[in-house]
This record gives sequence, structure tokens and C-alpha cells, in this order.
Amino acid sequence: MDFSLFFPRHARNQEQVLSIGDQTVPLQLVRNPRARRYILRLLPGGTARVTIPRGGSAEEATRFALRHTDWLQKQLLRLSQPRAERNSWKHGDLIDYRGNSVALDITVTDAISHVRFGDQSIPVPETQTDLRPFIERHLRKLASRELPARALELATQHGLVFSKVTVRNQRTRWGSCSVKGAISLNWRLVQTPESVRDYIILHELAHLRQMNHSTRFWREVARICPDYEAAEHWLKRNSRILR
Ligand SMILES: [Zn+2]
Repeated sequence: MDFSLFFPRHARNQEQVLSIGDQTVPLQLVRNPRARRYILRLLPGGTARVTIPRGGSAEEATRFALRHTDWLQKQLLRLSQPRAERNSWKHGDLIDYRGNSVALDITVTDAISHVRFGDQSIPVPETQTDLRPFIERHLRKLASRELPARALELATQHGLVFSKVTVRNQRTRWGSCSVKGAISLNWRLVQTPESVRDYIILHELAHLRQMNHSTRFWREVARICPDYEAAEHWLKRNSRILR
């Protein structure tokens, strides 16, 4: 395979183009004084972009891109393929994260590929075609750290006591509360806005007082979570997160 860099004769401003196999990929160099090293990414439109760190040079950035042409080729292949599965996640896809729709962005720096979204960055093996299992595992870990702490905080605030709290992988419900006062919360609550996460926690905590969905129960919910209707509405509109 021929990996070479050339300046097309007809290009007006000597735009650089990478030649990868039988494809040509526009190469964009962007300076970012806050970057600590060279970062290569393939933009969803098919342009390769190298971020040049403080003190770096365009020449080094170009060499960096050339060193990673096989990585680029893999990403290009992925970009051109239709989704293997409807439910797989790949570069450029939008996912829900803390109530925002964020794009998955794969980058390579040194020898490690990372997928970035929102404020998160996760190393992923280069051979990985579906990012979903990695990202879900990561989000679940985040949830295990955050949700029990938040549940304890809200319970204390409202003078409620649960026996334990578990973070679960559920496909049909956001949370539950057992007769023994054990609360379980869906890890996907890190994908919803924080107000919605809090509503679900408060909903389950309210079951400690009312083990049903009676008028009394909803009165209790309204008392400890006055905005609960907006949260319910959000959950209905975004039920796809559970699927
Ligand atoms: Zn309920």
C-alpha cells in the first residue's frame, strides 16, 4: 500500500492531502496551545485533523499523521460502513450523557486510541468496532460511584432511611424500592439530566413512606420533589435510553 503525502498540483492554497491506499484524505492542522501532544482525529466528514501542541510544528504534525495512516484507514473503513447493528455505537454517533446529546469522538495519541464524549475520555482497543460495550461499562462504573452517594445525600436531607442501595442494569425500569427498604437504581441515570436522576431517587425514597402509587404517594413525591412532573415528562420523551 502506498502511503504518501503530496500537494495536489491544482490546489490553490497547497492544502495537504494524505494518500491512503486508493483514497485521498484532506489533512487539516490546527494549533492548540493547551494541547499537550499531537492528537489525530478523523472528522465525521472524512477530513483528518492533527492538533499541534504548544511548541509543536506543522512538519511534525504531518509526520504524526503519516505514522498513523493505518489507524486512519481503519477509521475510514468504519465511517464508510453502514451500521452493522442498529444498536452499535461508533465514531460520530450521538449518545445521551447527563441530559445532553454528545458525539462520540475517537482520537489517537501516541499508540492509544481514546473515545471522547462530554467531559469523558476512555481508552479503547484499536480493533474495537462497536464502542458501546466499553462506554456502557464506563458509565456503569461512574454510576456506581455517584448514585449511592447521591441517594444517601437526598435520604439524609429528607430524613429517610433505606436499608441498601444497588446500581443495576435494568431495561424496563429506572429504579425500584423493595418492602425491605432496598433501593435499586438504573446506571443509565448518568445519561439523564441531574434533575431527572434526583427525581427517580426521590421517587424510590418516597416509597419508603408509601409502598404504592396512591394519591398519598404522589403527594409525598410532590412535597420532596416539586418539579417531578417535568422529570416524568422528560423520561417519557427519552424512554429510548432504556432500550
Ligand atoms: Zn414507584
